[in-house]
This record gives sequence, C-alpha cells and structure tokens, in this order.
Amino acid sequence: MKKVSIIVPCYNEAEVLPAFYKEISRVADCNDKYEYELLFVNDGSKDETIGIIESFGKTDKRVKYISFSRNFGKEAAMFAGLEHCTGDFVGFIDADLQHSPDLIPEMLKAVDDEGYDVAACKRVDRQGESKLKSFLSAGFYKVVNKISETYIDDGAQDFRIMKRAVADAILSMEENIRFTKGIFSWVGFNTKWFPHENKERAAGSTKWSIGKLFKYAVDGIFGYTSSPLRFPLYMGIISLAVGFVYGLVVLIRLIAQGHIFPLGSRVVLICLFLLFGIALVSLGIAGEYLARIYTEVKNRPKYIIAKTNCDK
Ligand code: UDP
Ligand code: MG
Repeated sequence: MKKVSIIVPCYNEAEVLPAFYKEISRVADCNDKYEYELLFVNDGSKDETIGIIESFGKTDKRVKYISFSRNFGKEAAMFAGLEHCTGDFVGFIDADLQHSPDLIPEMLKAVDDEGYDVAACKRVDRQGESKLKSFLSAGFYKVVNKISETYIDDGAQDFRIMKRAVADAILSMEENIRFTKGIFSWVGFNTKWFPHENKERAAGSTKWSIGKLFKYAVDGIFGYTSSPLRFPLYMGIISLAVGFVYGLVVLIRLIAQGHIFPLGSRVVLICLFLLFGIALVSLGIAGEYLARIYTEVKNRPKYIIAKTNCDK
C-alpha cells in the first residue's frame, strides 16, 4: 500500500486542533487505498498544542510529531516535516481548517493516477482578508515578478500534495532563509491546480502580523533576485553619462564662444557627477561579485530531474 504523509505545521493551534484532527482522520479513514502518516510539527507553541497532539498519538498510530524547542517559523516547520516524513506522497496542510482536508483524495488522484507530480491549491478570491493585507500582497507579487527570475504565483497556496521526488527536490535546496512559495516554483514539475476558496479560520487567530509578512516579503524578494545589488551600477552609469554629456556641452560652448560664465561652478558640478558616477559604478561592481557569491553560497542544485531511464 502506498503511503501518504501529511505535514501539519502548528503554532498555538490548541483551539482548532481537535476539530482539525476530526476532519483529517475522517478523510484518512475513508481513503483506505493509502496508508496515512499525519506528521504534526509543533513550532514552539506556548499553549496546549503539543499535549493535544500527544493525546492523538496515544490512540492513533498514524500520528507522528516533531516539537521544536522554540518558534522557528512555518518555513522551518515545513522543512522539518519534509526531512522526517516517510510517505511516497507528501502533503502540506494548515491546522486551522482554512484548507479543506476533503480535497486530499482528489489531489492524491492527480498525483497517483493522472500523471501529475504536484497537486496544489490556488486561491480564487481574497474574501475574509483585510483590505490592507490584500493590497500589500498584490503589490508584493507585482514587484517580485517584475524583478525576479522565478515566477511566483499570487494565488498559489502551501496546501499541496507532491510525489516523493518533488519533496526530495525541495529538500535539496538547503538555504537557511527559506521562502517556500519561491522554492515550489523554482523546482518546477508538472502541477495540477485546484481552485480553492478562501475560508475563515475555524478557531484561533492568524499567526501573521504585518511585521512578519513584511519580513516574509523581503525574504521573497532578496532570495529570488540579486537585482537590488545592481541598483548602484545603473545609478552610477547614469551619473557618469550626465557628467560626460554636460562636460562636453560646456567644452563645446567654451571653444565656440571663447568664454563661459560662471565656469567654476559648472566644472564643480561636472566633477561631482563624474566622481559620484565612479563611486557608484565601483559599488555596483562589488555588488556584482556579491551577487555571484550569494548565488554560490545558496548552493542550489544545478538542475532537477523529473524523469530518466539512466542507471546513474
Ligand atoms: N504556523 C507555524 N509557525 C508560525 C506561524 C504559523 O507553524 O510561526 C502555522 C500555523 O499554525 C498554521 C499555518 O502555519 O497551521 C498557517 O498559519 P496562519 O493560519 O496563522 O496563516 P494565514 O492562514 O493567516 O496566512
Ligand atoms: Mg490560516
């Protein structure tokens, strides 16, 4: 029997976990084609979360858990889940029932029978979300997709099920500052999208503050593009060009008219443009090396194989 691991990151979810467990185990019970592993990752919760997870484990062999020593964030929880799960198919789901477990059998069908590598949910609306959050996140995706080489889908959710090979590809990206939405898109693979309506949290409250979301957005931008490092280079080139053109204009007028007034302040201005230009271009060149070092340090795989018939 094929095994499915469902990874559930949990941070202070004591209020909603009993309802979540009831739903997910109902789905797992009905879907007897697969053996399930429910892997809860307690991300340093300060409430009763871990006690509740342990109580599920007492009567249910499918329940596994990892409990962090403190709050490391959802990205770390997802990575730990991937490292410790043993399924042939691996999925992520939030604990707050905003992701409906009822979709899991259909998603499994897509990866097991229909030849897809990933079955992922895509948000079709932003209902129930604050106007400010919607506005900021729409702006973020516009910016990131303009400047980054990896396309990051606005509506793509973490709720997904993938084949083992995809999970291994994600694990092969060992960077510490993780932006999973970017990683999902970077590794590629053939994905079937499931439209998914935004649902209200069943209980408890969101763990994302505007500050946390801002940090997440910054991680997304800086993890997937080095273009900000090129900014001084462009500014420097502009400054040098202005300095040269202005210098040339002043020189031609000086030759044509024999004199130009005031000459001193013009020369100072030209020197300023040229000197700032040189300084900024130098900074840009250093930035270019830094960008290369950054790419090398991330040490991402050079390619990811989806299928092969080579032995080695
Ligand atoms: N989560 C986590 N660690 C954190 C923040 C969130 O493991 O530091 C989990 C949380 O318990 C939930 C999922 O990530 O299962 C999504 O969080 P939340 O529902 O608060 O985010 P939202 O749906 O509001 O974007
Ligand atoms: Mg949620």
